[in-house]
Amino acid sequence: IYTNFIRLDMDPNRIIGVMALIQDITEMRKLEKMRTEFVANVSHELKTPLTSISGFIETLKSGAIDNEKVRNRFLDIIDIETERLTRLIDDLLTLSSIENHKFATKKEEININEIINETNVMAEALAKQKQITYNTELESNLPSIYGNRDWFKQMILNLVENAIKYTQEQGQVKLFVYERYNNIFIVVKDNGIGIPKEDIPRLFERFYRVDKARSRKIGGTGLGLAIVKHIVLSFNGEIKVNSQLGKGSEFIVRIPISEREKLA
Ligand code: ADP
Repeated sequence: IYTNFIRLDMDPNRIIGVMALIQDITEMRKLEKMRTEFVANVSHELKTPLTSISGFIETLKSGAIDNEKVRNRFLDIIDIETERLTRLIDDLLTLSSIENHKFATKKEEININEIINETNVMAEALAKQKQITYNTELESNLPSIYGNRDWFKQMILNLVENAIKYTQEQGQVKLFVYERYNNIFIVVKDNGIGIPKEDIPRLFERFYRVDKARSRKIGGTGLGLAIVKHIVLSFNGEIKVNSQLGKGSEFIVRIPISEREKLA
């Protein structure tokens, strides 16, 4: 608590009153700390691939370029790191745009079946690479919901991609969509590596990763779930996680259907 006393004396010799201004600055400090940490994290995340890129360019310039095999290997690494930088910047821009506009975005009618058909093309291709069985179960006659269509699609994609990424080869990933008590529930379930209990509360923080090295190796930016969280908020919804280490995880999104939307 920050307390500020202001003297209300017109005549410096006569105090006629004292006004106390009491402000809770704990929240302000917390926000400031989060902002500073975020900038530090972004700088670090951007710097890592850049350091690697400039290192390999330097080595190429100082002679490695003459050896075809070495040259090709280094160029491949530069390529991969450049891709990672691009992905990171794309995710940062997406996150900041969703965060800033989440309550002021255009509201379009979203046909859930249509979106799932679109996301399935990508999901099936990814699952196939790892011989993962990917299934969807959609209740019939799902009502439309209203919000930003692109964001809704991105939310499904991020959750399904994660489920595939964090599941061993030949595992299983399932997507369920159903309506209950005026809510749309979207459940993405896998029988993959699972998440330690103590990490679950921090999963939706930007750049939070259970295993940084592993996530980097499989191409993660650490921003996917932060993006998902803000999209869910834009739909006035909520997201929960159930997970057991070594057994699998389940991400449950609940989106309320308003009466107007139900009638539409
Ligand atoms: P990343 O780009 O690292 O995947 P996300 O924000 O999408 O970042 O996810 C944050 C972390 O949560 C991941 O690094 C991973 O440790 C964990 N995670 C997310 N989804 C799953 C899942 N389905 N199974 C196990 N761990 C998961």
